[in-house]
Amino acid sequence: MEPVEALERIAFLLERQGAVTYRVQAFRTASAVLSGLSDDELRHRAASGSLTRLKGLGPKTGRVIEEALAGQVPGYLSRLEEEAGGPLVEEERGARLRRALRGDCHLHSDWSDGGSPVEAMARAARHLGHEWCVLTDHSPRLTIARGLTADRLREQLSLVAAVNERLAPFRLLTGIECDILDDGGLDQEPELLAQLDVVVASVHSTLRMEPAPMTRRLLTAVRNPLVDVLGHCTNRQITGTPRPESRFDADEVFAACAEHDTAVEINCRPDRLDPPRRLLRQALDAGTLFSIDSDAHAPGQLDWQIYGCARAEECGVPAHRIVNTWTARELTAWTGTGRRPPHVA
Ligand SMILES: [Zn+2]
Ligand SMILES: [Zn+2]
Repeated sequence: MEPVEALERIAFLLERQGAVTYRVQAFRTASAVLSGLSDDELRHRAASGSLTRLKGLGPKTGRVIEEALAGQVPGYLSRLEEEAGGPLVEEERGARLRRALRGDCHLHSDWSDGGSPVEAMARAARHLGHEWCVLTDHSPRLTIARGLTADRLREQLSLVAAVNERLAPFRLLTGIECDILDDGGLDQEPELLAQLDVVVASVHSTLRMEPAPMTRRLLTAVRNPLVDVLGHCTNRQITGTPRPESRFDADEVFAACAEHDTAVEINCRPDRLDPPRRLLRQALDAGTLFSIDSDAHAPGQLDWQIYGCARAEECGVPAHRIVNTWTARELTAWTGTGRRPPHVA
């Protein structure tokens, strides 16, 4: 095992386990430092015991590197594999749907509040077997999450093009997680939104609005032809400091999603698991499409899709109504022209 591989795997498993960023950062940083060294220099430094004199390497990461260079599986990694490398859900729950997924419509990079570069996220998605994923960093008004201004988003589009050249045939699609403003408007220039492959629209503010205005707000958003996916519709938080569901008329909102072909997101983050099952079943009855999204803020969190797959399976959501089971070409045809793939229509 190459030292970089060991460091990346450790970081991935820690993130998958939900570790806080600072616990993971040392391994990601060490991996980046190593990527800038030649093999010779690395071996020379390991042999002379001067690895940890490099900025960004400490005793823990240094030991991982030395053990990997010596041809062993680093002790830290084997302990972590044992503790956190197993399946995230028991008894094959969700496994059938997970195998049917080709991509992920919602993830963040370090351009907004994610912890890793765009390309690292895309490579991790590819490594998990995906054919495509959509980069959806936050919109300007969410300053706490370093939301992207129109100019930064335009700049990001060139980076995505460059990443695609390196990772083809894997496709990194362009996108955004766009704030739904209090009046249901969108927090980005419409011309720019129209250029993106996928627009996920979510509520991140004034979550306690009265049900009537919240319903109007969501209806306005999901009827907007620029919106493809309604993100984490109740905004509930179920771990840490719990947050109750936002209140709205789900019948009306899901009916509008079905009519205007806006997919309802099944958000997989363990702290959200949104919507709750009763609403998921309601959306299913209303005839909506779905998108099972990791909402990953780090590579290891991309693996969280299994949580949403398990819930979708429990609620009887058929694979063809989940847009992540479509090819990138089918997905972008749908978001661009509203045309569903033949096997879905
Ligand atoms: Zn969000
Ligand atoms: Zn998000």
